Amino acid sequence: MRRSIREVFRRDRVFDFMVQGSHPVIPGEIDISHGPILYLDSVTVSFDGFKALDDLSLTVDDGELRCIIGPNGAGKTTMMDVITGKTRPDTGQVYFGQTINLTRLDEPEIATMGIGRKFQKPSVFEAQTVWGNLYLALKADKSVWPTLFTRLTTEERECIDKVLETVSLQNLRNRNAGTLSHGQKQWLEIAMLLAQDPRLLLLDEPVAGMTQHEIEQTTELLNTLVGEHSVIVVEHDMEFVRSIARRVTVLHEGRVLAEGMMEKVQSDPRVIEVYLGE
Ligand code: ADP
Ligand code: MG
Repeated sequence: MRRSIREVFRRDRVFDFMVQGSHPVIPGEIDISHGPILYLDSVTVSFDGFKALDDLSLTVDDGELRCIIGPNGAGKTTMMDVITGKTRPDTGQVYFGQTINLTRLDEPEIATMGIGRKFQKPSVFEAQTVWGNLYLALKADKSVWPTLFTRLTTEERECIDKVLETVSLQNLRNRNAGTLSHGQKQWLEIAMLLAQDPRLLLLDEPVAGMTQHEIEQTTELLNTLVGEHSVIVVEHDMEFVRSIARRVTVLHEGRVLAEGMMEKVQSDPRVIEVYLGE
């Protein structure tokens, strides 16, 4: 069996932050014995007295694909900032599995724990090939030992091949990333995250600016990730959300306004009033 990259580099042996209290924490060994991979518990974030997140609580199950929708200013991006350690909550807790308190970790530590984030704008290395971008994604993941790993292992090469196939870019592996379409760049960036084998993937408006055909391919891509990774998708394109959605959370004024299966949520009068009716 192929050993995951994370297993090879037992960073719990290296960094003190991997040991919290009485729970030794090992990336890739997130405690999901109670089901959820992510818990937000009464999270509040204020900007000059304005509550961008107001006592927000939600949980995401392991392997789930969750869509987060809501009007502009609802707090969606702030929620991702809190999960990834970019913003500290004023109050409340954020847990990754049962035991890892994310509010005690910084951004690089949270990324190392297995949470990958894609911002809305693609940020691939345009002058590098598609393959080269994935190579760099793998190298960046273990920059702790830069001199020891100048070449890729067989496992790493296989990992790159696998993610290229997942995002359907295998035939474009030698193309310069700068020549890709907007949609292909988005997929390459998702592939770069997948190469690092995240447990939880956060995608902020992944289909913004895509053609209809690219949106359909992204739907297929996200559907293949279900079960392998937990995914949180923030998206405005309701057609797209309908095509991928299982459970949907509607945020409004920093709180959960409604949550449930898409069919139920989209017929909720409160949701129609604040969002869908726009
Ligand atoms: P969404 O992503 O749902 O559109 P955001 O999380 O970006 O919403 O923003 C939620 C609210 O918090 C908005 O009213 C926004 O203006 C405010 N906000 C977000 N970040 C900051 C910040 N750094 N400073 C001040 N206000 C902010
Ligand atoms: Mg936003």
